[in-house]
Order: sequence, then C-alpha cells, then structure tokens
Amino acid sequence: VDFGGSSAKVGLVDRRGGILAKETVPIDAREDFERIVEPVESCIEGLAKRHGDRGRLIAIGVGTPGFIEEGSGRIVGGCENIPALQGRSLPEHMGGALGVPVFADNDANCAAAGELAFGAGRRFSSFAFITLGTGIGGGLVFNKRIFRGARGFAAEIGHMSLDPSGLQCNCGSRGCLEQYASGPAIVALYQEKRKKRELPAPILSPKEIADRARGGDSLAVETFDETGRWIAQALGTLLNLLNLEACILGGGISQAGDVVLEPVRRHLPDFIWPIVGAGVSIIAAHLSNDAGILGAAAQALERLER
Ligand SMILES: [Zn+2]
Repeated sequence: VDFGGSSAKVGLVDRRGGILAKETVPIDAREDFERIVEPVESCIEGLAKRHGDRGRLIAIGVGTPGFIEEGSGRIVGGCENIPALQGRSLPEHMGGALGVPVFADNDANCAAAGELAFGAGRRFSSFAFITLGTGIGGGLVFNKRIFRGARGFAAEIGHMSLDPSGLQCNCGSRGCLEQYASGPAIVALYQEKRKKRELPAPILSPKEIADRARGGDSLAVETFDETGRWIAQALGTLLNLLNLEACILGGGISQAGDVVLEPVRRHLPDFIWPIVGAGVSIIAAHLSNDAGILGAAAQALERLER
C-alpha cells in the first residue's frame, strides 16, 4: 500500500515483483484515522479474494511519508499531508483487521527497497538511494539490507547541510540539499537566472526545464549543472563516509536522465577521494509508475525474511 495525500495505491504483488492486481482508494486527508484506513483494508481483502489468493497473502507492506518508528510502526512526524495518520500505527490497525504481519516504512526507504529487490539496485550489495521530487528523501542499503538507524529515521539525505550560511530549511537547519536540488529549488533557480537576464520568467515544471536543457537552452543547462553539483557534494560526502558501490537517483527529477546524471558524475570528483570514487555507479532508478507499490511490498518481504 502506497499512501499519498489524495489516494492510497493498493497492489497484490508476488515475490518476483509481479503486480497481479491493483486498485486506487481515494483518500480525504481531512477524515479521521479509521475512515482513511478501513476502506484500504477492505480493498486489500477484496483484491486478494477476487484473485483467489486470500490464503496466500503473507504480509502487507505500507509506505507513507514521514518518520516511522522502528518496531511500533507509529508515524511520529513528517506526515502533514495526511494529519490523521500522525501518531498512529498502521501495522497495528491493519494487522488486527487482516491477520497477517504488516510492515510500515517511509516512502523513501520503500523506494530504496523496491530498487534493491526489483530494480536498478539488484546488482549491488551497497548503495545510496536518493529521491528527487518536491522534497528529497533517501535510503541506505548495506549488505542488501535497508539501514534504518537507531529508531528508524536514517538516511535523511535531503537534510545534509551543505552550506552552513545557506538557505533556511524547514527542518531547522541551513543549506540543506533539499533547498538546492528539489523540484521547487530547480524551478526557482531557473526563474532567477531568467530574471537576472531580464528575460520572461514563467513558472515551468522541472520536466519542462529539463526539456529546455536538452534543447540547448543555456540557462536550463546551467540550472541542472548547479543542481548536479549540489547533489555531487552530498553524494561525495556519503561515499567517502560509507564506501558504497552505487548511488541511485529516483523520484520525478531523475526522469530528466542524463540532464541531471551527467553533471552529478562530472562534479563528483571534486568532493571525493579518487580511490573511493573509482568505479562507483551513478545511475537512475528503474522502477517508475508502480515504484510506490513495489517498494512497499519489497520492504515488507525484506523484513519478513529477516
Ligand atoms: Zn533541512
């Protein structure tokens, strides 16, 4: 189950990452906890029964935004989009209703688990995953396992402070990666560059700016070059620290492909010991449309097996 601010995507997933069936349950984020969760539980029951697979349902994986406490599965913060979920445990409620183990994780860890099990991460045993979207999330994989930290909050890669006197971040710190390489940051940077040259500065999407970069718009190219340099700084620090095999870029911005990957690769040597950087793969995630569902399932399978 992939919870978002306006819907929950529910899929019946097999061990190889095949999606046998899927459905979307609309969510009214102003409703209370039970009214949000119960329709999702009915949807799971219905899907499993219709496919004659109720008895073969071995676990439920749930992905949500926010900080999810390891063990209890309680969402302890960062889920402002669906306030009723804050402070509550989806595994507790859904496990009770459906009678199978339920594992919850934040959507970035889910995405990392999805790439590890079914996507670009399959050929690596250690990598950093970074989702570039409206915000920036992260996941860390060591020895083919998600590393969740002491309480489940590890890998907030978007909140590595890269410039102590930089832009104020909503986490309380300054100069966080998220302020320079998220979708809104890319849009703002491109606009600022246009304004400086006294050019019309319409609000474009990151995808439109990437298309312009591909078409030779030099300010769009510069925008992605700067964005790529910030990402390279963050990844260089991570790689020096952890000696990983790869960094996988996911989320909407990663669909810009080489427009964003090439500058990251080019700037990375400025931020890393050459010997540590040698042979490191900087690549795009493979899963796209169903990444949320597959990731939620993957992290549940991983923990079930553990
Ligand atoms: Zn921050």
